Amino acid sequence: MENCLFCRIASGEIPSSKVYEDEKVLAFRDIDPQAPVHVLVIPKQHFDSILDADPETVGYMQSIVVKLAKELGIDESGFRLVVNTGKDGQQSVKHLHMHILGGRSMQWPPG
Ligand code: AMP
Repeated sequence: MENCLFCRIASGEIPSSKVYEDEKVLAFRDIDPQAPVHVLVIPKQHFDSILDADPETVGYMQSIVVKLAKELGIDESGFRLVVNTGKDGQQSVKHLHMHILGGRSMQWPPG
């Protein structure tokens, strides 16, 4: 989608700190990290949010999250997987993305 920040990152038009890429997904470091490890996993195809995405895409993204958690060394210590959705979910970029947050102990409940 024209004017979608994450579509422009997925196409390479806007640079990112890439962690992983294949034909379906891109993973890159968040520009404003909230933890020592803060990686975003996005599908290259545009979906506004998880509400619009097909289960195959979401499942594939999940498999990449697990692979990256191992490669980033946070699988044993644990991590938080966040999919902010819509207004109340404080989703600021309207392109489906999963946040992988790790490397420190998380707070619960979230604010
Ligand atoms: P959300 O609030 O769940 O929509 O998350 C959007 C995330 O995208 C935020 O954590 C931002 O810091 C991050 N972000 C925004 N622009 C960029 C960018 N150019 N490169 C990497 N991360 C970004």
